[in-house]
Amino acid sequence: MNLTVRILLSMAAGVVVGLLVQSGGFAPEHWLRAGFVDGLLDAGGSIFIRSLQLMVVPLVLVSLICGASSLGSHGNMGRVGLKTIGLYLLTTAIAITIALLLALVVAPGESAGAANIVLAEFTPKEPTSIKDTLVNVFPKNPVAAMASGNMLQVIVFALLFGVALSRTGEAGARVAASFNDLNEVMMKLITMLIQLAPIGVFCLMAEMFSNVGWQEIYKLLAYFLTVLAALLIHAAIVYPSLLTLLGRVNPLVFYKKMREPMLVAFSTSSSGATLPVTLRTVEKRVGVKNEVAAFAVPLGATINMDGTAIMQGVATVFIAQFYMIDLTMGDYLMVILTATMASIGTAGVPGVGLIMLSMVLTQVGLPVEGIMLIIGIDRLLDMMRTAVNIAGDGAVSTIVARSENDLDMDVFNDPEAGRVIEK
Ligand code: ASP
Repeated sequence: MNLTVRILLSMAAGVVVGLLVQSGGFAPEHWLRAGFVDGLLDAGGSIFIRSLQLMVVPLVLVSLICGASSLGSHGNMGRVGLKTIGLYLLTTAIAITIALLLALVVAPGESAGAANIVLAEFTPKEPTSIKDTLVNVFPKNPVAAMASGNMLQVIVFALLFGVALSRTGEAGARVAASFNDLNEVMMKLITMLIQLAPIGVFCLMAEMFSNVGWQEIYKLLAYFLTVLAALLIHAAIVYPSLLTLLGRVNPLVFYKKMREPMLVAFSTSSSGATLPVTLRTVEKRVGVKNEVAAFAVPLGATINMDGTAIMQGVATVFIAQFYMIDLTMGDYLMVILTATMASIGTAGVPGVGLIMLSMVLTQVGLPVEGIMLIIGIDRLLDMMRTAVNIAGDGAVSTIVARSENDLDMDVFNDPEAGRVIEK
């Protein structure tokens, strides 16, 4: 049985087990909750997420140093960088526009007043200024950047190091060869650890579904469904169109290959933790060469969050409608701009998209407390938007690679390419 099928089956089993536990209505101290859900399942899920996270920093460092050293020697790094960042911004702006339009048509906030929603606790985050955000991209201590997992700083260091390697002649070539070997080892490590996915996914899903607040979702059903519909439109229409028109590749093949990272993203709700799986898939299964993938995928996992931007767009309209505040055309443009910025600033970890929403709301003068309305149902939406976030990273990497002649079409068209073979 292949890995995707096993992940899907364990995901389904996790949902069933979770729902069974939930329907039992056990007290928190009952052994099924305290021992099984909060003990065993929680531990299993956490170990899986940690085993993915452990690879992120070394992988990005090694893989991007290899990528940058070969890009550096061709001299097309600037072009690849501009295209990638440009496409990331463009797809995010499209995502949020879809979200705003759909939310305006559906008007999920107009009927929500009567729903008797329980307000949750929420402490807004102090927004960082644009200047500080920019300065913080540049590391002053690469070891500190790696130790704290500051991805943008690690990316900048790896890029500089890789370019320097490509300009250091023989010594550089020797070091680059070692990094290429190390990269192979890292890929092997991912292949080994991804085999834990069925168990990890089972634990995460069972834990999640034993705690979903169906009541809350029901009360906010219009909001929930609007976000879901916008995510679907973006994933099923926007990416396929871009892949077909700009990338000249078959989007169905692309999605088939991206299933594993999308499922992992769905169950972990973290683009960051999924990054090793995304990178491996984009290189070995989709066929994007390392020099593009090593740059585009980690950058995407850090700054490209289309699914998050969609949630923020719908949430903004929802909150405005709930508080009966009219937004002007200028406000909407502001929302597009700030939500795109906020999605860049959102770290790829669970739930941060909602925290960054405060930045968007403040910009257009909406009450930040509005976030408390939707916090209760964000967990499930987070899973779905994270899957869209990483699909976007894969799609943009593929399109950029294709335009640079860095997409191996033999790998792309081979259904077996890069498949994880269980040992
Ligand atoms: N969980 C999302 C991600 O990691 C971020 C968010 O929207 O909260 O991609």
